[in-house]
Amino acid sequence: MTEKRDYYEILGASKSADANEIKSKYRQLAIKYHPDKNPDDKEAEDRFKEATEAYEVLSDPKKRQIYDQYGHSGLEGSGFSGASNFEDVFSGFGDIFEDIFGFSGGGGRRGKARARKGADLKYEITLEFSEAIFGTEKEMDIEKAVTCPTCAGTGAEPGTSAERCQHCKGTGQYSQSQGFFTVRTTCPYCRGAGQTIKSPCSTCRGRAQITQKKTVSLKVPAGVDNGSRLRLTGEGESSPNGGPPGDLYVFLKVKPHEFFHRQENDLICVMEISFVQAALGDKITVPTIDGEETLKIPKGTQYGESFKFKGKGAPSLRTGYRGDQIIKIDIKTPVNMSKKQEELLKQFDSLAEESFTNKLKNFLGL
Ligand SMILES: [Zn+2]
Ligand SMILES: [Zn+2]
Repeated sequence: MTEKRDYYEILGASKSADANEIKSKYRQLAIKYHPDKNPDDKEAEDRFKEATEAYEVLSDPKKRQIYDQYGHSGLEGSGFSGASNFEDVFSGFGDIFEDIFGFSGGGGRRGKARARKGADLKYEITLEFSEAIFGTEKEMDIEKAVTCPTCAGTGAEPGTSAERCQHCKGTGQYSQSQGFFTVRTTCPYCRGAGQTIKSPCSTCRGRAQITQKKTVSLKVPAGVDNGSRLRLTGEGESSPNGGPPGDLYVFLKVKPHEFFHRQENDLICVMEISFVQAALGDKITVPTIDGEETLKIPKGTQYGESFKFKGKGAPSLRTGYRGDQIIKIDIKTPVNMSKKQEELLKQFDSLAEESFTNKLKNFLGL
């Protein structure tokens, strides 16, 4: 792993930057590298995550202080670690993204009960090696929570409606006096919703959402690799309270190929030839991902030499240009030779000027 970059450097902010400057620097980077604007761009995603991690630490006075004092190592294992997982990256910065993309489920900024985005879904599919190279279309069956069609997401039986919670008077908060203090907690009767449902919808039992099976068709672009991730915006679960739906993330697994081995966008393969072919040269047939090709083996080819078919590799996701196929030469040493073959080889060796036997003879002065 490469060394972690300095958080200030990542954001392009000075060590003395105030909270506003930190926020505005992060905002610029987040706009530039946000996955919505850079679909399937691994580098942008990494920059985005890196910036988000830096912001997560530097925007929190406590974490920032630790970082300023001890650097990255101060945050490790302290429970303050900036290493974000995917959900955190997207959910932890509600108002920044609201600023940037204008997501706002009503209720205004920092309003109470902001409409939440539906949950993201994660699925995994396995592709054949060539499907990853050339791209493909796949259908996948998913299950997700959607707004209940019977009650249209109110949770109340059609014809009835939710009533204001008597206990909290619709505020969703419950105040209790304890001595000198008033303790405010989430209303236990309505669980903070501010309303109760007398006749719950019979389809969703008042949950406002039902689980639905759906077949999603997935366009896999040419050049994806094992571990690539696709995002289908809005194909996640629907929001429980009128916000935008979540996204569907599909993680790709690619089956290994019996002949090719992928290295970035190049396809590596090993071809075995006989030592006679290596010595005399030959033309051999080599499989490529597009079909067979002829490779000319020059005279005197050595073990481990490699040859290249330009443009026979995997396409780059970003540019579409294809990598190369690299053919590594393996030379077979003959076994189980006949007497005659052995004799011929001995004869060959005695004729070869640079043969080991001859060199040894010369060395010993024989
Ligand atoms: Zn319902
Ligand atoms: Zn209540």
